[in-house]
Formats: sequence, C-alpha cells, structure tokens
Amino acid sequence: MKPITLLSVLLAASLLTPSFGQSFDRSVRKVDNREPSIPRPQQEAQVAEKLANLRKKTGKRPNIVWIVVDDMGYGDPGCYGGGEIAGAATPHLDTLANDGLRLTSCYAQQTCTPTRSAILTGRLPIRTGLTRPILAGDKVTKNPWADEISLATLLGNSGYTTVLTGKWHVGEAVGMRPHDVGFDEFYGYYPAQKEISQRVDGRRYPELVLDPLKMAAFEGLGIGHHLVHGFKGGRTEEISSVESTEDMGRADQVLTDFSIAKIKELAAKDKPFFLEHCFMKVHCDNYANPDLAGLSASKYPYKDAIVEVDLHVGALRAALEEAGVLENTLIFFTSDNGPQMDAWPDAGYTPFRGAKGTTFEGGVRVPGIAYWKGMIAPGRVSDDLFDLLDLFGTALNLAGVSTDTLPDDRYYDFIDQTSFLLHDNGRSQREAVYFWWGSELMACRMRQFKAHIKVVIPQATHKYIDLASVMDVGLAPWLFDLYLDPKEEMTVGHRLSPWLATVAGKLTAHGGTFRKYPPKNIGL
Ligand code: CA
Repeated sequence: MKPITLLSVLLAASLLTPSFGQSFDRSVRKVDNREPSIPRPQQEAQVAEKLANLRKKTGKRPNIVWIVVDDMGYGDPGCYGGGEIAGAATPHLDTLANDGLRLTSCYAQQTCTPTRSAILTGRLPIRTGLTRPILAGDKVTKNPWADEISLATLLGNSGYTTVLTGKWHVGEAVGMRPHDVGFDEFYGYYPAQKEISQRVDGRRYPELVLDPLKMAAFEGLGIGHHLVHGFKGGRTEEISSVESTEDMGRADQVLTDFSIAKIKELAAKDKPFFLEHCFMKVHCDNYANPDLAGLSASKYPYKDAIVEVDLHVGALRAALEEAGVLENTLIFFTSDNGPQMDAWPDAGYTPFRGAKGTTFEGGVRVPGIAYWKGMIAPGRVSDDLFDLLDLFGTALNLAGVSTDTLPDDRYYDFIDQTSFLLHDNGRSQREAVYFWWGSELMACRMRQFKAHIKVVIPQATHKYIDLASVMDVGLAPWLFDLYLDPKEEMTVGHRLSPWLATVAGKLTAHGGTFRKYPPKNIGL
C-alpha cells in the first residue's frame, strides 16, 4: 500500500465526518483486532440451542461444503433473474435457493485470488498481500501463507478432514499449494481455465499456438496445466494434463466425479469434513463439455457452462443426500466475483453497473445461497449484508472452534454469521462491507447506501479490465441509494449528508485499523 493513498483517504473521509453521523452505526467492537458487529444476542442464543439439539441427534459436528463458481454473474442463475430468460436454465440452483436462503446482498472481492484467499483467512486481501490475481509468470517476493493461518488448518486441527477440489489460484509454488496450507487433500488445477487452455487453442490464440518460439517462451513460464492430486505433507501427483480444448471442456465433470466419490468416502467416517468445491467454469475461456454439448437453449459455450455447473451442483447435493449427511451439512453456493465482461460473449450477466475488476456492484455482488436441510427454513430471502469473508467465522462457529484461539497480532475482517443463516428470521450482524481494488480503498456499503471514494471507469464499453482507469472522485464521495438506484447511476450525496458522513466515517475507521495492523506486501 502507498502510505500517501491511505493518508488521503483518511483526510478526505474525516473532513466529512461530523460526530452525529455515527448514530446510524449499530455495530459494536468487542475485540480490538476484529471487525465490529451488530449485537443480536437472542438470535445467537436461539441458534446455539438449535445447533446443540442437532449435535445431540447426530453425535457429530456438521460438515461444511462450499461450492464456488468462477466468474459467475449475479444475474446468471434463474433464482437471481437469469436462467431461462438468459438461455441457460438452472433448475438445480433454483431448487437449492427455494429450499434454503437466497442472499441478495452477498459480496465477493472484485477478482479471483483476493476472494479465494479472503474466505480462507477471514482477512481482506490488503492485509494478506493477495491483492490481485496471480497471473502467468508472476513471482511473489514472499509466501503470503508463511504467516497466515488458513481455515483448513484451523478446522483440521479441530478434527475435520479438509479437501479442496478444483481451481485453487492462490499460488502454485511449494509452500503455497492447498495441501501446503492446511488441506488434507487437493484434487484440481492451480490456475484459471484461460491460463491452462490458451496453449491448446490455436483458433483463439493462433499467435501463440502456431509460433514455436512463442510457445517455448510460454511453456517456460511454467504454468501448471496438470490435474494435480496433492496430499498434506507434500506428496503431489500429476494425474493428467490438458492437451485439448475437449480436455478442458471435460474438467468440471472429472472434478465433480471426484467430489462425489470423496463425499461418499468421508460421510462414512467418524470425522466431520470440510469440502471446498471450486469449479473451473465459468471463467473464460469456456469450452462445452463434449459429452454434454448443446446443453443450453442459447448454445453458446458460456451458457452451456452455466447449465453444466447447475447439473453438477444438483449432483453434489444428491451425493450428500445419498450418503445420508444432508441434514448435517451446510452447503453454501457462490461465485468469486462478477462476470468478466472483457471476455464477452464468453461472460455472465449482471443487472448492476460494472463487472469483474470494478468495485461497482457488478464486480462484487454475487449469488449466495445457504442450504441446510432441516436447519435453514426453506424459501428465505434476505437483503441483509453478507461478505464472503463471513464464511470463515461461520465455519469456525459450526466446528466449535473458538475465535479466542485466533492470534491478536493481526486484524480479522470476518463476522460470524451463523445466527443470520440459521435463524428462521435471521438478521445480518454485518454493518458495513468495504471494497478494495489492489491497495486502493474504494468504497463502503452500509444498509442500502454505498459511498465511493475511488471508482474504476472503463474507457470503452464493457472494457472493465483491459481498458479501464482508477479515478479519484471529486469534492465529495459518490453516494448511491441502492434501493432507489441499484445501477449506481444517480448520486444522492448532499441530499443525504448524514448518511454520507456516516459511511465516510466507516471508511475512516476502517482505514484506521491499518495504523496498528499494517498491510502485508508480497510484491503483487
Ligand atoms: Ca473469478
């Protein structure tokens, strides 16, 4: 982080923060190095009792299954306004949402690596140093995991079996792989689909594939194109490699087959399990699974990929049911960021402004479905705030791992949202979501208000990554009322100055946490 940037943020925000503004803030900070949360003691007590009763019945702590899609847009699933109208029906996701809780204000970071590392550390990317995707040829100056404690480590130490299937994208050097940072087992690919498939797609990348010199240089970057099976302790096997676009198209079927077999195996054991299933799809470049081509009404590869992911989600749920553990398993389904519009038409749909790579809603608001048979009331919908970081604290609670065991030399951004997810009328305990772009603090949402102090502006239509600029706002932060204006087009700034001051005050307080707990730089 550039110190001048943080300083300017603090100054800009503090100028706009009269003391009365804090009155809208319901959150309370209980521990110095933790994010303040909205107290809901009754809700928490009732859910603790609900969990204790389930424990008596099952005799076992619950399993935790996260399903993460790569780059799926908020508006892709039918239950979020897409599905059939977008040429890609998603009956399994729609059923999952109908049978559980559909979150409408669920937030990711604006790109892959930041989200994936945040949910496993409970810490914002600016704190861990994993501030942007690790790309082909990137060399970090320091292993960010050397002093981070992953959720997999914490759950593993408490007696869980931990497995990550699919895309990792948080480093492929020794010491940074899933099975080096706490997972018992990893079965998947290190990078995103496009990094793997560009060496075999001569139609899309002729300048690379048809030029032996460029190909040699590309291969020299050492990007992993193998399906890897890794085990805690370091043993790492290469199962197969992607040698054609057909291989890439089949990857998610292979990964789902593995997770299904693993669920069957783990469900029969005494230990509870944590499975993070990360799809390769629907990140560009998508190739239809040759065994399932033409699945979607649209017939475009992206749409086929959506329908294929939907099928696999249905199969994962069915596997948990067949293994007899559906009633003792929290399933959380989400996407790691908004659609990558730069790759259109190999891109998803969002009804919001912006896309992947921006901190407008299109980049960060993602589908979030929590499903737990018998524990989450069917048909719930909530617009309360949920940051995917909160999955970390919620998993610790479910596993019975006390947050008192976490170190106090670093700041934790997660909030335990167990009672929000599991109470029949659960309300969020998160008061604010903070949005970062690399090492720039960009925006904050509180209730329906969102204030930007910096923005990512595309310089050509839908070019949010390849032709975009990060810009400062003018005299005042851009304040939007997302209920009046979900597309963030019409600012309400001075008309609602107490809210502007309150949200700016949250940004100031957030920026202040870095004085005592400085950000980590790993050279990204
Ligand atoms: Ca992604």
